[in-house]
Amino acid sequence: MKDTGMIRSLDSLGRIVVPVEIRMTRNIDIGDPIEFFILNDEIIVLRKYTSTECTFCRSLDHVTYYKDQFICNTCLKELGDPGRIPEAGESLQNPAEDSAEPAGSRRTKTEEMSRRLEKAIAEHPYANQKELAEVLGISQARVSQLKRKLSSSGK
Ligand SMILES: [Zn+2]
Repeated sequence: MKDTGMIRSLDSLGRIVVPVEIRMTRNIDIGDPIEFFILNDEIIVLRKYTSTECTFCRSLDHVTYYKDQFICNTCLKELGDPGRIPEAGESLQNPAEDSAEPAGSRRTKTEEMSRRLEKAIAEHPYANQKELAEVLGISQARVSQLKRKLSSSGK
């Protein structure tokens, strides 16, 4: 456990101010719910409460838990096939559309977007996923996917 070195006093109503440094680095905004945990029967731990809504679109329908994130079916499909959500069997009925996009083009687009994301992160080191998505003009789901690619490629 890391000691932040920050000390705040309770006020007359038992309230405590969460230091702005912690709120900024932990992505906690005014009005966000905070959960209390008790560690080893003596240490109080505060954590930003995350409900079971989709991380990307806040939908509560058909939400799956994956690697500390909740994600809905729709966003999951977008991650699997960025840019569009195909109907079942669509690619079989529409071979012409598939051949219009050469096998290598999606990969190239991803690499191009990864470079743009790296640049955006370098220029806005404190931007969150939503802000990065706006800078790049892509979905938050796509930013998240690209970030994972970048970190897994060991750069
Ligand atoms: Zn979603």
